Parts: sequence; structure tokens; C-alpha cells
Amino acid sequence: MLEITSIKNGFVIDHIEAGKGIKIFNHLKLNETDLSVALIMNAQSDRLGKKDIIKIEGIDNLDYTALAMLAPRVSVNEVRNEKIVNKFKPELPEVVEGILTCENERCITKDETYVPHTFKLVDRNLGTYRCEYCDHTSKLI
Ligand SMILES: [Zn+2]
Repeated sequence: MLEITSIKNGFVIDHIEAGKGIKIFNHLKLNETDLSVALIMNAQSDRLGKKDIIKIEGIDNLDYTALAMLAPRVSVNEVRNEKIVNKFKPELPEVVEGILTCENERCITKDETYVPHTFKLVDRNLGTYRCEYCDHTSKLI
């Protein structure tokens, strides 16, 4: 097992559902940085069976909104001087624009492509969002 303390300063994104690690990796453009990063796939987890883990050395900030949207059950560990100083779950935003797309074929956003796709959070635990225009719901989880 790889030790969480194997990074000095940075973040460990844990409890990523198996298979989603690569999506987060790509979304955060970690393949384009010269940071020291690790993507661990299919690690054993009591809670999830299998999970992905991402470790990023040498950064101060993360796009928590994107993390929550891509993998609502992740936990983030902030590491400073080889110690975990902060451990938290990123919160889903109340309103998202331009991230989700409505799946209702009759929704105005299908025809009027200039209309921003706006969704409101209706259930934080289930990760359910509702389209502003047609009330169609989308689930993240
Ligand atoms: Zn809609």
C-alpha cells in the first residue's frame, strides 16, 4: 500500500469511485503539468470495494467544485510538511451552469443553444440536480 505521507505538500484526493480517477485527472489537466502527480487506480477500499486515488505534490489549491461534480463522494486530504492538516469533502454547489446538460429532448436548451444550461441542487446526498427550464432531474451519482 502506498503511504499517504509520500507527498510533502499538496493534496491527496481519496475515495474516488473506481474509474473516475482518470476523468478527474484529465479535468484538472494533470497530464499537462510538470507537477509530481500520481493516479492510483483500483486500490482496495472497505467502503467502495475499489477506489481511485490521486496525489498531487506542490499545489496550494484545487478546483473543489469540479471535484464534487465529477465524484461527489471524494474526500480531500491537504498535506503540509508530510502531515494531513485538513480533511474534508468538497460540497456540491447550489447552482451549476455549463457543467451538466439537460437530457430532456423537449427542453428549450436543446433548440436554443445560446441558453446556458443551469441546474439547481435538489438533493445533496443523492447528488440530484434539476434543470431550470424543464424541471428534468439529473443525477451525478
Ligand atoms: Zn431541461
